[in-house]
Amino acid sequence: LRTHSLLSLFLQAKMSRPVQARRLEGIDKNIWVEFVKLAATYSTVNLGQGFPDFPPPDFLKEAFVKALSGENHMLHQYTRAFGHPPLVKILAQFFGKLLARDLDPMTNVMVTVGAYQALFCCFQAFVDEGDEVIIIEPFFDCYELMVKMAGGTPVFVPLRPKAPKDGKLMSSADWQLDPAELASKFSKRTKAIVLNSPNNPLGKVFSRGELELIADLCVKHDVLCISDEVYEWLVYDGKEHIRIASLQGMWDRTVIIGSAGKTFSATGWKVGWTVGPNRLLQHLRTVHQNSVYHCATVAQEAVAQGFQREFERYGKPDSYFVQLSKELQQKRDWLVQSLDAVGMKPIVPEGTYFLVADISEFKSDVPDVPNTDEPYDTRFAKWMVKNKGLAAIPLSAFYCGAHKNNYNHFIRFCFAKEEATLKAANDILQKWKLEKISP
Ligand code: PMP
Repeated sequence: LRTHSLLSLFLQAKMSRPVQARRLEGIDKNIWVEFVKLAATYSTVNLGQGFPDFPPPDFLKEAFVKALSGENHMLHQYTRAFGHPPLVKILAQFFGKLLARDLDPMTNVMVTVGAYQALFCCFQAFVDEGDEVIIIEPFFDCYELMVKMAGGTPVFVPLRPKAPKDGKLMSSADWQLDPAELASKFSKRTKAIVLNSPNNPLGKVFSRGELELIADLCVKHDVLCISDEVYEWLVYDGKEHIRIASLQGMWDRTVIIGSAGKTFSATGWKVGWTVGPNRLLQHLRTVHQNSVYHCATVAQEAVAQGFQREFERYGKPDSYFVQLSKELQQKRDWLVQSLDAVGMKPIVPEGTYFLVADISEFKSDVPDVPNTDEPYDTRFAKWMVKNKGLAAIPLSAFYCGAHKNNYNHFIRFCFAKEEATLKAANDILQKWKLEKISP
């Protein structure tokens, strides 16, 4: 009898009802989990995920060490929930200068756990069931999933490539919005548009004309702009990063999102921020308050010191922001040359850590399989890491399900890497090319 009652107790205790909340339906698979694992298992050279393999600048590391082991032991305790006061103060000063506007550190700036949490706060704070959010393809994949998790409907509009002239290499600037197509996506249901300039994965830096087109539509349809500017300092060839919030009518409806990870080459610190009008930020504070509430104090203190240093050196040759973009431009050029030499045609990026390359000429190595759901570039990238030890990310990962197969012959490389890493990638590509010529 005792065994029997124990067994029935056990069966009762085991849950049979579905445990997953409806909002997670369809968003439980994520390509990063798979590709990060593949890179860890097989890669000898990892140009996949977007992080530098070189250290952050000494002044930043020193600021962290000082914050950690200095006399102010209160830096080990909670600080202000919406941002450590020294950090929000310097961010308000810095962005106030960039935007030519007086910013209140307490109401116009909020610190987050990386730009990722800033994005999450935006979608949770602004998107209701039934709201539409316009996303420009290719896009950082979490936008789609975060919109869905908030109950909204993502509406996609692609950047369309135009063939470059005179046999030149394609540039990320050749990928453009069709103005009529973009306008057709705005409706009464549109709550927000997500802008990511400089863009991950293409490296496109939106021009003033393109930003004005988006801004005019936002104003006309009374739409918010979530402006992900994490690569704001990483622009090349003298290009200018223009902040959409600085355009007519846009400050009031834009949240700017930034990342100390990308700004100071310290992605593991996970310090990010939002800048915008209080009427928008007050709602981000509500989400932040009821989810994460607070970010690591020591990291915020060090980032505040980093910004203070950069504020004093703004635009000068010894500014880290100036130096980093120069160094990355050189790394971009190396990778462009390596890929071009083997016929994996690069699309020259105007900004970011990333470069997208055309794999069409390598299709004989990884033949197409008809009638499979997996886009060609995904199988190619998996094959490449397993057989060549080189990790990259398929471009189709940055498109919605319906559009993945329209752009399935490109892969994305991250070039924010040490010279030795880029050289090792070049060696793999050269050897591969030779094998193709004389198998
Ligand atoms: N936005 C974009 C476009 C990114 O590429 C990334 C990081 N890959 C993030 C946001 C997230 O930044 P963080 O690491 O600061 O959370």
